[in-house]
Amino acid sequence: MQPILEVSDLHVRYGKVEAVHGINLKVAPGQIVSVIGPNGAGKSTTLNAIMGNLPPIGATQGSIRFLNLELSDVAVESRVVQGMSLVPETRELFATMSVQDNLHLGAYPRKKAGEKHYMDQLETVYELFPRLKERAKQDAGTLSGGERQMLAVGRALMARPSLLMLDEPSLGLAPLIVKEIFHIISRLRITGVATLLIEQNARAALQVSDYGYVLETGNISMEGPATELANDPRVIETYLGFS
Ligand code: ATP
Repeated sequence: MQPILEVSDLHVRYGKVEAVHGINLKVAPGQIVSVIGPNGAGKSTTLNAIMGNLPPIGATQGSIRFLNLELSDVAVESRVVQGMSLVPETRELFATMSVQDNLHLGAYPRKKAGEKHYMDQLETVYELFPRLKERAKQDAGTLSGGERQMLAVGRALMARPSLLMLDEPSLGLAPLIVKEIFHIISRLRITGVATLLIEQNARAALQVSDYGYVLETGNISMEGPATELANDPRVIETYLGFS
């Protein structure tokens, strides 16, 4: 199947220091793909480079093809319009706005699609996250950690992306909530969206993924179908042993 995202020979540098050294990765339509690896390996850097969201000191080299368009020199706003959406580690919600108003803002890149599209997408998000529907009028700042993560994902989905990128969705959440978040990620398949997931929780990430990459010090050291990676002795020893 033709990939919707194809990253080739991607290098990312911060000033003089190169953090990502020429990696290749692909995501096919509707797939869940995870990138696992230790702290500082370059996972967030990779995601931000794909999104075009690096800090000013960051620079990329290589190719980022998305839906058959070369996007490596295109601004983040255009990537959003083309169908990429990133949920950053920091989640970046508007704390003093209601759940529904946060979702409404998420639909902004699709404002030309009209009210009916907005209502349909809101319905899809509320189906996926009934908890958000119950709390539609509540301020985002008063939500629990898990609910905030649901809202961050829901808001990203409001833009009707073809590719949803999630940066450490389980970070800082209690184990039961982590389980719930990963259950939701696996259910994202029903919306048809492809998901690129960056995680330190390798076990949970591989369980919901079709394919996985291991990123270590800026290089892809291993890749394969998620079930194969999860059974690879090196992955078990380094990333799954104690989790
Ligand atoms: P973590 O899980 O800890 O967030 P990560 O795998 O996402 O780790 P990155 O945050 O992408 O790793 O960091 C990769 C490397 O790039 C690290 O050495 C980090 O110090 C460096 N780095 C990240 N952001 C910047 C920046 N804004 N300026 C300079 N160096 C940076």
